[in-house]
Amino acid sequence: MQKINLKKNINLSNFTTIKVGGFAEYFSQPNNIDELVNLIKWSKSNKQECRIIGAGSNLLINNIFLEGLTICTKNMRSIEIESLTGIVESEAGVMLPTMSNMLAKKGLQGGEWAVGIPGTVGGAIYMNAGSGDLTLANNLISVQVMNTKTLEIAEIEKKDINFQYRFSTFQQNHLLIISAKLLFKPKGNIKQLLETTKKNLKRKTETQPYDLPSFGSVFKNPTNTYAGKLIEELGLKGFKIGGAEISTLHANFIVNNSSANSQDILELITVIQQKVLQKKGISLQPEVRMMGFDYP
Ligand SMILES: Cc1cc2nc3c(=O)[nH]c(=O)nc-3n(C[C@H](O)[C@H](O)[C@H](O)COP(=O)(O)OP(=O)(O)OC[C@H]3O[C@@H](n4cnc5c(N)ncnc54)[C@H](O)[C@@H]3O)c2cc1C
Repeated sequence: MQKINLKKNINLSNFTTIKVGGFAEYFSQPNNIDELVNLIKWSKSNKQECRIIGAGSNLLINNIFLEGLTICTKNMRSIEIESLTGIVESEAGVMLPTMSNMLAKKGLQGGEWAVGIPGTVGGAIYMNAGSGDLTLANNLISVQVMNTKTLEIAEIEKKDINFQYRFSTFQQNHLLIISAKLLFKPKGNIKQLLETTKKNLKRKTETQPYDLPSFGSVFKNPTNTYAGKLIEELGLKGFKIGGAEISTLHANFIVNNSSANSQDILELITVIQQKVLQKKGISLQPEVRMMGFDYP
């Protein structure tokens, strides 16, 4: 087996956008698919649990010591764009804002909505991240995956993946997303695409707390209403537990006022759920993924 680059005792708060997280026993940031595959093989042959993070923008990691290997894909940044056909081949770690801007510059239409989402392509497929009806799944052709249990590598076509609102099959299996093949509409008006992309980013930064550490929307929107609206109607904007606060700008965001730990945030999530259930009779489900907790 090739040499692998492992670090020990790494503080994962530096790898999440909410700036909270415990310590990883082993940590690595592969630069390409070969390095990623070697890391998975290492974890299997050394019987180490293996977990994967992208940009950590939808992630609450417990403030504990996380045994085993944590892999961050953010250095897997290779992307090939065919301007004429609109076909894009992207490694899992490519950031959505990077891809969105590149597509617009090449005259490819369909990625303008993704500019304000600070996640990776792999994380966005796993989460089925999106804006309104627009998600990466709309443009997906296939995903290359590795089974972390069997080490098998396979190509899965979009028709064989179940995508629902902020849900994909990958939340229920052991498949690690290595890369994705996507299709965008070619020969668009570059000036217009760049303008729409810029406008979308402006709208996001004006309506959501981009200047403070957060992990985006905390809860999924229930049917026919918005989680943020329900929380705001209960007067909870600005409500705090420890260093965790419900954003005064957008009630479905929790922000870290520099000193929050995972317990503050989990408690705040639980309090919001209890209050919304009591007062509105609606059970809010977290969109945010939990790591290192005994959370369902
Ligand atoms: C300011 C802000 C605004 C946001 N706006 C939006 C929005 O408009 N719409 C929206 O949908 N989301 C939004 N988000 C949430 C978040 O950016 C998305 O969910 C994003 O797709 C997560 O990608 P990530 O790479 O950060 O994943 P991470 O947070 O690192 O991981 C999320 C989950 O995906 C898994 N995962 C990551 N990469 C892989 C992989 N390669 N293979 C298998 N599993 C993987 C992880 O194990 C974890 O369970 C926002 C977040 C922030 C901070």
